[in-house]
Amino acid sequence: MYTEIICIGTELLRGYVDTNSAYISKELADIGIEVNLISNLEDKERILEEFFKKALKRSQIIIITGGLGPTFDDLTRDIMAKVMNLKLVFNKEIMHNIAAHFAKRNLKMPQENEKQAYIIEGAKIIPNLTGTAPGMIIQLKEKDFKSIVIMLPGPPSEMQPMMKKHILPFLKAKYEHKIRKAIIFHTYGLTESVVAEKIRNLVQMEKKLGKLNFGLQAYTSLVDIEISAQGEDEILIDEILLKVKSEIYQCLKDNIYGEKQETLESVAGQLLNKQKLTLAVAESCSGGLIAHKVTDIAGSSVYFKQGVIAYSNEVKINLLGVKEEVLNKFGSVSKEVALSMAQGIKRLAQTDIGLATTGIAGPGGGSLIKPIGLVYVSLASNSREICEEYRFVGKREKIKEQVKNAALNLLRKELMLNRN
Ligand code: AMP
Ligand code: MG
Repeated sequence: MYTEIICIGTELLRGYVDTNSAYISKELADIGIEVNLISNLEDKERILEEFFKKALKRSQIIIITGGLGPTFDDLTRDIMAKVMNLKLVFNKEIMHNIAAHFAKRNLKMPQENEKQAYIIEGAKIIPNLTGTAPGMIIQLKEKDFKSIVIMLPGPPSEMQPMMKKHILPFLKAKYEHKIRKAIIFHTYGLTESVVAEKIRNLVQMEKKLGKLNFGLQAYTSLVDIEISAQGEDEILIDEILLKVKSEIYQCLKDNIYGEKQETLESVAGQLLNKQKLTLAVAESCSGGLIAHKVTDIAGSSVYFKQGVIAYSNEVKINLLGVKEEVLNKFGSVSKEVALSMAQGIKRLAQTDIGLATTGIAGPGGGSLIKPIGLVYVSLASNSREICEEYRFVGKREKIKEQVKNAALNLLRKELMLNRN
């Protein structure tokens, strides 16, 4: 089954973000319909006409948003009728509703709005409770179209309730024999291409069987993998996904830090909770980002005791007990200082674990020996002390984000060791 979304509006090609296709494709995926193509088209007659013709040839489901307004640049209704060789018919009831929409607001209805009371013949009308343009479902077996064409207004505040109330139940009833299930894995420490390389054999093998879809999504130092399976037999889908899951873990091992909604901070939090351990952080270059993320997790007060933003040397010395000689000898961005900060915050907050960061986030402050992006992340536990050196690239915010992820991942890895 080929499904496409067409979002119409010149504004979408001039920098206005098309959120409709993101919303619709996500909602469709949730009911087992995977979208194959998303397009943004200009409000131009010739472009729409050519595109609609092609869409009707290739797609079983076509969802269109935009261009149903009352003005001269709203062409969707007219062009679709032309391409389908169908008439536009005046609908009294819709006219009445549009007039009432204006009357309720004590406004005079502009003549232009009459255009919206014209419906493609044979179309099922989708009421619009938050605006004037009704939606339409056109499904004409007697004509030569295989496609179901769904047309909705552009404003998200009108389109979304219409999708929820009418379109999704309609499509669900029509295709409910299809089941789609997806698993999402979150990885840390690998680039998108390395993840792709590591799972390549698995992807190729499964693609041959034709049952699975793979998608990768890269964020700052994190890569997500979504694997979905579709079919009619739920037990079979579960079996396939279970098998793939164990293979994905074999390929990526502890680079996988979580699944579904899990985050580095939620996973680390769960481990701290289970192991009844407490945490404190001393942050220089991450500027409180780690404490912020750790405390995003509800219930984190059980394991999180204290965060210190130890930005200046005085705070490192006076509060965390970093020795002045160490700072002078190695510099504030050094392994020695990072370790001393982790020990210092652990001692100060009397926790089981101290986590610390120090580095150069830029844009100034870098040198040949200590370039921008040089970062030390350190952890002190009851049994050992570790320090990792990183060379991050990017702007200041990006570097801070990477430091936060590295620190949370170091914490997670340490806690995983205790678990084994
Ligand atoms: P319409 O009159 O139906 O073409 O759409 C009117 C308004 O809806 C536009 O001016 C946008 O503000 C909004 N809109 C249209 N298409 C989209 C889209 N794909 N994503 C988000 N907003 C949109
Ligand atoms: Mg428009």
